[in-house]
Amino acid sequence: MKAVVLETVGDVSVRDIAIDETPGPRDVRIAVRRVGICGSDVEYYTHGRIGPFVVEEPMVLGHEASGVITEVGDAVEHLAVGDAVCMEPGIPDPNSRASRLGLYNLDPAVRFWATPPIHGALRETVVHPADFTFKLPDGVSLAEGAMVEPLAIGMHAAGKAQITPGDLAVVLGAGTIGMVTALAALAGGCSRVVITDVKPPKLAIAAGLNPQAITPVNVSETRVADVVGELTDGWGADIVFEASGAVAAVEGAFEPLRPGGRVVLVGMPGEKPAWDVIAAQIKEARIETVFRYAHVYPRALALMGRGTIDVTPLITDTFAFDDAAEAFAWAAEMPETSVKAQIELPA
Ligand code: ZN
Repeated sequence: MKAVVLETVGDVSVRDIAIDETPGPRDVRIAVRRVGICGSDVEYYTHGRIGPFVVEEPMVLGHEASGVITEVGDAVEHLAVGDAVCMEPGIPDPNSRASRLGLYNLDPAVRFWATPPIHGALRETVVHPADFTFKLPDGVSLAEGAMVEPLAIGMHAAGKAQITPGDLAVVLGAGTIGMVTALAALAGGCSRVVITDVKPPKLAIAAGLNPQAITPVNVSETRVADVVGELTDGWGADIVFEASGAVAAVEGAFEPLRPGGRVVLVGMPGEKPAWDVIAAQIKEARIETVFRYAHVYPRALALMGRGTIDVTPLITDTFAFDDAAEAFAWAAEMPETSVKAQIELPA
């Protein structure tokens, strides 16, 4: 089948690749239709590695995928040929201790699309477990379906924050993950989200998602703690989501926080931050961390189906499958006015 293959650092081609996949009784085959380009795909393209994961052989990219079912295994009851679906890209060992505890995202044996050596979903068809394949509600497009993967991270972060209705949250970083975290925090009951970045176009897009409830702050001009202080009579934010991965943002995460507040670390810093332990202690901050997500696709789809969460403003660029090499070269230098680029496969 044809696939978008990362041959080696900086070299993507669209070519035939042999992937032998026979569906089992609990699997489905899906004609892939939309795949989002993630920061992780771009990182493998530009650097060939993320932490311990190193690209050593040609690998199919992409993990933010949606498509249409073309074949269902005998034991599959909740899906049918022709269904529009999105797919959760990480498949754990269902019998592992982590999975049995409900923490399947933390299973050391998880196989995650486009994390070496596992091939990704930027190819004509995939065979996938039906249990990790979710039917799109009416009115949710295939393009939106491919946004469920990044949204799931924001949803998982909102869950970890244990939002109380009316909470004021800060989201540090207005990239894709910051924006979906803001949407999930508002859907989860926050009354206001103060979102930060240093790029004005990103802040404008973020504010436009919900002008009544999202306050943008350019932290190259204004301290977020000052803005939060004004909004809360000096008390501070109930929750701070760190979604930038910028070391300075991680280090400053306790500053806008109220006493007894929660910090949720979502972004992965490129370098090791220097923690101010005392800044956390004097506020008795509760710190939560997020690694991917578990059990949130159905919740994300329910909110999208009801219109509570609309991800369409985040899909700023679409490329044809045959132009995938150009798409990755472009994504490596993505303009500030763009948020999420997707690749569209022919129907
Ligand atoms: Zn992703």
